[in-house]
Amino acid sequence: MYQIQPVAIARTPFREKFAIPRQPMLAPAAIGTIELQPPFDQAAAFEGLELNSHVWLIFLFHQALPDPDKPPRLRVRPPRLGGNERMGVFATRSSHRPNGIGQSLVKLESINGTSIRVSGIDLMDGTPIIDIKPYIPYADCLPHATSALAPDAPAAIQVEWSSEARLQVEVQQARLQQPLQELIEQCLAQDPRPAYQTPQPEREYGAGFYDVDVRWHYPTADCIRVLAVEKLA
Ligand code: SAM
Repeated sequence: MYQIQPVAIARTPFREKFAIPRQPMLAPAAIGTIELQPPFDQAAAFEGLELNSHVWLIFLFHQALPDPDKPPRLRVRPPRLGGNERMGVFATRSSHRPNGIGQSLVKLESINGTSIRVSGIDLMDGTPIIDIKPYIPYADCLPHATSALAPDAPAAIQVEWSSEARLQVEVQQARLQQPLQELIEQCLAQDPRPAYQTPQPEREYGAGFYDVDVRWHYPTADCIRVLAVEKLA
C-alpha cells in the first residue's frame, strides 16, 4: 500500500461539480490559486517553476472517490458519448476512476509567496493537489496525435443575458473583483447539461460560482439565457 499526502489545495471559483468545464483551458477566466501545504509551503519547493508558462496539476477527484466496499467501475459513461453509452474507464478522462487521480494542464499566471495563481482551471474549490509538474512542450505536445472519442474541443453554444441578470453580474463582478461575466459565459458556453437531457424552456438550471448563484434556462436547445446572478445568503 502507498500513502499519498496532498502538496496543495486548489482554491477555485467552482463551488460544485456541475458547470465546471469538462477539461482545462476551456474557460481562461477560471482563475484559481494553488495553496501549497506544509512541508511544501516554502519557496525552495517551487524555485524555478516560473520558467514555465504552463503546469500540470495532478489531483484527487475528492468528490468522486471510489467506494472501497463496492466493485470497481470498469466502464463509465463519458459525456462525449451522450452520457448514456459506456466505455472502458481507461479510455476516458472520467472523474470516476480507480484511484480518483486526475490531471489538468493550466496556465501559470504568477507565484505569490506560497501560492501559485493559475488560469483555465477545471477543478472544484478545495480539490487536493498531489503533485505539480512543469508542462514541457517538446514532450507533452504531440500535434499529430489523435483521439477518435474527442477529436476537438466541444462546440460552444450561444449564451445571452436577461437585462436583469446583466445588471446583477456587473454588481457582483465589481464586488468580487473577478472576471465573473466572462467566467459565466465561458462555462455555460460548454453546455453543462447532461447530453441525454432535452432542455425544456420552462426548466431552470443553476450553479454556484464564487459566492453567487447563477440561474439559467434554454429558450431553445442550442442557446442559454442567464436569468439571475445573486449573492448566496
Ligand atoms: N482534466 C481532468 C482530467 O482529465 O483528469 C479532469 C477531467 S474531468 C472530466 C472534469 C470534471 O471533473 C469537471 O467538469 C467537474 O465536474 C469534475 N470535478 C472537478 N473537480 C472535482 C473534484 N475535486 N472531485 C470530483 N469531481 C471533480
